[in-house]
Amino acid sequence: MAQQIVIVGGGAAGMLAAYRAAQLGADVLLLEKKSRLGTKILISGGGKCNVTHAGSMEEIRAKFRPNEARFLKPSFYRSTNEAFVKMLTDKGMETYTRADGRIFPVPPFDAKDVVAVLEAHLRDVGVRVRLDAAVSGVAVTDGAVHSVTLVSGEVIETRHLIVATGGSSFPATGTTGDGWRWMESLGHTLVPLRAALAPLYLDPVPPAEWSGVALRDCVLRARTANPDGTSGKERMRWRGDLLWTHKGVSGPVALGVSREVAEAIPSDSIVEADFLPDEPFEKLSERLLTHTKAHPRRAVSDFVEAEPAVPNRLVRPLFDSANVDIATKGAYLGAKERNRLANALKGWHLGRVRHVPLERGEVVAGGVSLDDVDPQTMRSKKTKGLYLCGEILDIAGPVGGYNLQAAWSTGYVAGETAAKDLVSI
Ligand SMILES: Cc1cc2nc3c(=O)[nH]c(=O)nc-3n(C[C@H](O)[C@H](O)[C@H](O)COP(=O)(O)OP(=O)(O)OC[C@H]3O[C@@H](n4cnc5c(N)ncnc54)[C@H](O)[C@@H]3O)c2cc1C
Repeated sequence: MAQQIVIVGGGAAGMLAAYRAAQLGADVLLLEKKSRLGTKILISGGGKCNVTHAGSMEEIRAKFRPNEARFLKPSFYRSTNEAFVKMLTDKGMETYTRADGRIFPVPPFDAKDVVAVLEAHLRDVGVRVRLDAAVSGVAVTDGAVHSVTLVSGEVIETRHLIVATGGSSFPATGTTGDGWRWMESLGHTLVPLRAALAPLYLDPVPPAEWSGVALRDCVLRARTANPDGTSGKERMRWRGDLLWTHKGVSGPVALGVSREVAEAIPSDSIVEADFLPDEPFEKLSERLLTHTKAHPRRAVSDFVEAEPAVPNRLVRPLFDSANVDIATKGAYLGAKERNRLANALKGWHLGRVRHVPLERGEVVAGGVSLDDVDPQTMRSKKTKGLYLCGEILDIAGPVGGYNLQAAWSTGYVAGETAAKDLVSI
């Protein structure tokens, strides 16, 4: 007997699709490859899970690229951030909004509890969940969905299939790009996959002792790399925290510029950090001059060490990169040296980006072309009875709860449409 609705992928989008379809009375079978649901949700926001973002859905939508924002409009209005937060609070979880607008569960609630709440909702509406149920293929007859085959060889028939297999970063969470292969074989266009929200691996590799050093509230700029090693036109900038790793840089600012850097490949990018983004170069240079006049016998390094924005471990490297002797006394700091020092603080050259690792990204940009899916319903335009939602689609928002919201909303709409199609077909 054919199953009413089969959903492949028990992540954010798949769970919301299952919930909504079953809430509307459909019989829903949710197939998940891993031994538990929501494995990627568990690692999201460092385990704290930034579930969504505050503000109007219009504001949230505006954070996506224009074609993505257009596509997301109907589902964002159908399934909002407030509605998702209510799903959590209805089950006793409290949430709070950070100053930057990101919404998290109030500790001790965390990502585990988000998954537990969603599981409770699935139980309430009678979704049947099969874990360790990896799907290996989708069969279509006469342009309409016919069945899915499990890795075990079992065939499950259905006329309504929701594919929510996510992307391909952090493959240990179950996301290995399976859905993309099936969709391509069914004639969907795949927009080339690229890293997004990923760390940057740099050349030269930062010294080991910088690993773990953080800059708070800096601006990271990615620029084109000129053949002579200097930096050219700005590609992207992002403001926030930066963290050195043993291979390069990470943290919100690195993630924020990563999509543009990855898209520019094979053209090289150089990244530079502005330690003092609120202070124009001229003002900083003037402040430095005032300091050296006031303290002619003191080492200029005192000035840099006193800057809260500059970690102690980076003071000497900053002087080295500005080609200024760290022992220079105020009275001996010439105008050229002063400007070089101010330049280093306003745009410290961190290196050339050697690699943007797709598998380490919070999301993958690219995927099933938005032209192949109806944004009102999440129905595939290529295959009857097929619905797509979540990261399998060519959508990649910035850090801040935007990507989970896109998964919740598109999942909800896919489930709703599939359930309604059961009645109308
Ligand atoms: C480290 C990290 C931190 C993140 N933090 C945040 C955050 O704080 N806020 C935010 O908004 N976003 C965050 N994201 C992004 C967010 O997790 C994703 O955008 C979101 O999970 C995508 O939802 P999805 O349902 O499309 O895919 P997923 O949640 O990845 O779910 C896909 C599911 O499909 C299953 N699956 C795949 N193939 C098969 C198959 N063949 N058969 C059966 N099942 C299959 C997988 O096992 C997986 O469970 C983070 C991502 C990462 C990697």
